[in-house]
Amino acid sequence: MNITQLGWGTFFQQEYEGFGGGQDLIPARVTRQDKNSYELLYERGSLTAQVSGAFSYTAESASEYPTVGDWVIVNVIEDEKKAIIHKLLPRKSSFTRKAAGVETEAQIVAANVDIVFMVVGLDRNFNLRRIERYLTLINKSGAKMVIVLNKSDLCDETEERIEEVENISGDAPVITMSATCDDDFSQIERYIEEGKTVTLVGSSGTGKSTIINRLLGEERLLVKQTSEHVSQGRNTTTWGELVVLPSGGIVIDTPGMREIQLWADDEDLANAFGDIEELAEGCRFRDCEHLAEPGCAVQQAIEDGKLEDKRLQNYRKMGKEIRFMEKRKRERAILDKNFGKQIHKFHKHKKKVIF
Ligand code: GDP
Ligand code: ZN
Repeated sequence: MNITQLGWGTFFQQEYEGFGGGQDLIPARVTRQDKNSYELLYERGSLTAQVSGAFSYTAESASEYPTVGDWVIVNVIEDEKKAIIHKLLPRKSSFTRKAAGVETEAQIVAANVDIVFMVVGLDRNFNLRRIERYLTLINKSGAKMVIVLNKSDLCDETEERIEEVENISGDAPVITMSATCDDDFSQIERYIEEGKTVTLVGSSGTGKSTIINRLLGEERLLVKQTSEHVSQGRNTTTWGELVVLPSGGIVIDTPGMREIQLWADDEDLANAFGDIEELAEGCRFRDCEHLAEPGCAVQQAIEDGKLEDKRLQNYRKMGKEIRFMEKRKRERAILDKNFGKQIHKFHKHKKKVIF
């Protein structure tokens, strides 16, 4: 594999030359970020890498550490399977997730993406306001966007939906497809050229995995099988989060990227259940959970037949999911932050011992 197929180009070449690269300092791309190491791909295959001591001395925040999609300059060691990361090359584009609850530190969840497919379901998932929020988010990233209206087989008003979306989509092309029914994938494939990096965002259940699996053919299964064998006992996902497609082009699919959707969803909850939020303003207690508290206006409405109990259950269930994800996001943010500190400490300590 040559590095152009991995997404290398003049932008990175210039930065690399500026760094004064040499024979033993070569470029590699991050395919996975684990707690204590990175997986990389380079011209001659894959590498497991760690950042150098000097790197962590100078890195001041989590965003200065490499993430999936980043290009780094490495020194390959030990029969060419391991490497030390010396420099992170500037990013062409990046997706930032606010590290909820932890100061204002931004987390980069994917870097150097050329095209983002925003996957929207033409079934009950369809929501123009959500599309608008994604548009804002992606426009900030530096990547181009394509809106994919999936599940066309479940929609009788495809033409109307396309028109509605085109009214708000700006320059972003809009394509319609059915990931499960279409034999022809050329609509989406024509955006995926060799050396171009794509990623998929959108609510859960819209068809992202189905699309990725179809793009990958049998590759992903293959990758999964081999790495499961190698990494028994690891409980993280077993495949690379950046994968080169058999037909050329690169796909990034990370949990962080998928979680980007959740920014939208607490607001969605309030919008979708405006009636309940309104009723809740009449509850005696500000933090009323509408279970059996005295003076609960929501329970009263159910008793009066003005609100369906099922609807309240659904509201509660969705709220729970969102809070759970928020909690996980916060935990992960803290983890990431500590991780940065630990690397720092580790290298300081190591230096003391060695010198
Ligand atoms: P993800 O959460 O975005 O990764 O969504 P998945 O790819 O897991 O898809 C969720 C469900 O929708 C699965 O049961 C898929 O088989 C189904 N699905 C995906 N695309 C289509 C489609 O075009 N039409 C229909 N009818 N179902 C689809
Ligand atoms: Zn209440």
